[in-house]
Amino acid sequence: MTRHFNFCAGPAALPQPVLERARDELLDYQGRGLSVMEMSHRSAEFVAIAEQAERDLRELLAIPDNYRVLFTQGGATLQFASVPYNLLGRGGSANFLHTGIWGKKAIAEARHLFGAAPVVASSEANGHSAVPRQADIALSDDAAYLHYTANETIGGIEFDYVPQAVRPDGTEVPLVCDMSSSILSGPLDVSRFGVIYAGAQKNIGPAGLTLVIVRDDLLDQACAEMPSLMGYKAQAEAGSMVNTPATYGWYLAGLVFQWLKHDIGGLAAMDALNARKAEKLYAAIDGSGFYSNPIAPLNRSRMNVPFVLADDRLDKAFLAESERAGLLNLKGHRSVGGMRASLYNAVPEAAVDALIDFMADFERRNG
Ligand code: PMP
Repeated sequence: MTRHFNFCAGPAALPQPVLERARDELLDYQGRGLSVMEMSHRSAEFVAIAEQAERDLRELLAIPDNYRVLFTQGGATLQFASVPYNLLGRGGSANFLHTGIWGKKAIAEARHLFGAAPVVASSEANGHSAVPRQADIALSDDAAYLHYTANETIGGIEFDYVPQAVRPDGTEVPLVCDMSSSILSGPLDVSRFGVIYAGAQKNIGPAGLTLVIVRDDLLDQACAEMPSLMGYKAQAEAGSMVNTPATYGWYLAGLVFQWLKHDIGGLAAMDALNARKAEKLYAAIDGSGFYSNPIAPLNRSRMNVPFVLADDRLDKAFLAESERAGLLNLKGHRSVGGMRASLYNAVPEAAVDALIDFMADFERRNG
């Protein structure tokens, strides 16, 4: 068996110890004589798995008691609709910061469902290479919440600060964040947010599971006509079991949380490791004269590092040779081209070292 280094943007690499444990427990979960996939979600065994996962996540992120954690489905994309449905029941508009493709999709969905959804600051003018600063953000008078994307997975642009969401009249409104591609990459002050959501398939677990963290005072402002499965309150009251949850993904997420706690040593340690990985790769890109990344240093994503070659006619050879060298999934998103190395939690530092060595060698031969 050979496992290569996987730089996929998502579904992304999972920690090897997690996969090994899942393999060991696949046919017979802890002597119960069946797989987690074959258990009733209401069985004592599965409820214990689910509760342990939530406890570990709460501990990792120091989630305050007045927040509910939901393990749902539909991906971050369904949250583009669920958030306005759950938060606009008392009127007002969704306000957005626009820093790239995923934020744009969230804006489009809010507009599709609710009409107006003002963009109150944008990085469009600089080609999404630097996020708006706090002083550039001017919420609308009727803002019900402010939504932003902490890390734009395709553009490779990441917020270096948590924005404040204050209306012109001084009222603070909930801050909503799509953290699909940066959650668990380091410590987080959850108390700054009204809603945090993330598709699982980057730093949490396999695709098919969606995490929502919602402050409990926001559970009572949903639109009446919302599909019932999308309701945060209903899911919170049902322990995320309004219908059959993504049980196996939930279990794997729990194993990832255990790995973060016990193998990595928590999110501060993860943060330091991620900083080191990203700094190395950006330093190699900046030092080369052959590779380049357009993002302002302050907003360079630690999770997704897009870069282009000096001559895009070499892209094909770069991809073919990197794959032969055991460096998988370096092709950039189809909308931007070039390359992208995603350095999520489960991508080891050795993978980054191997990539940097390959890039230097490729440059020597082609530069
Ligand atoms: N938001 C961000 C930041 C993402 O990276 C992605 C997926 N790459 C999405 C939303 C959409 O997620 P999903 O496919 O889980 O709906």
